[in-house]
Amino acid sequence: MPRRLIKTPPRKKSTKTKVRERTKKKAGRGAAAGFKGANKRGAAGFRQAKQEQENQKRKNSTPFRLGLSADETAKVIILDDQPFFRHEHHWKGPDGIWNQFDACIKASGHCPLCEKLGAEGYYAMFLTVIDRRAFTTKAGDKYKYSRKLLPIKNTAIPKYERMYKRKETFRGMSLELYRDNGSKTQRIGDPEFVGWASDTRMAKYVDKEKKPFEVIDYEEVFPYPTEKEMRQRYGGTTPLGGEDTESDDDDPDNLDDAEWD
Ligand SMILES: [Zn+2]
Repeated sequence: MPRRLIKTPPRKKSTKTKVRERTKKKAGRGAAAGFKGANKRGAAGFRQAKQEQENQKRKNSTPFRLGLSADETAKVIILDDQPFFRHEHHWKGPDGIWNQFDACIKASGHCPLCEKLGAEGYYAMFLTVIDRRAFTTKAGDKYKYSRKLLPIKNTAIPKYERMYKRKETFRGMSLELYRDNGSKTQRIGDPEFVGWASDTRMAKYVDKEKKPFEVIDYEEVFPYPTEKEMRQRYGGTTPLGGEDTESDDDDPDNLDDAEWD
């Protein structure tokens, strides 16, 4: 048999080439590439699957955030006496939609999500409101109103603070939220004070079990994650010194005193 007809087996990749390819893959996993990361095998894959499940569970248990379209108005009534605050991140999901939220734990140490996104989280105030816009679900069920989470980003907080000072409470405050056509306005629009709703009137807004709506349990839907949990969700390096900030000293309430730009 002429020698040149003998098929040569495919050349095996040298270790050097493999390392180079691996490094290339890692480099492509920046913030812009989302968090899907590279394909995984074996134990790493199972770990990822478990993490994805937990992320989904967390997302599903979070109440709907109020959002307005351009030139839309919504009348709302606030249920909270006192607001809730936290630092959080908001980023684009793998599908290109800005629908990803999670805590920013920078105030208590190193935040793996700051590292991943290359940007610090923002400070936000949260209120529970009765959104009086009627809507129909995809299944065709009609609702006259709904309970929503109203996230107020740092720049809009002073305006809410001024309204709060009228009675040193938010409970019963009726607002008209309006979002103009400007692309830079907040999704929740601009608030205009309308008046106060009595408890009797507020009790008329009920959930599926016909019970009056209650303020969202923020501690439950926004548990303050440890750095270890954040690293499990988003990767990232252990800071030099390698200490885990998992002690009970990480009181999320301390965040309220934290100063941010
Ligand atoms: Zn952060």
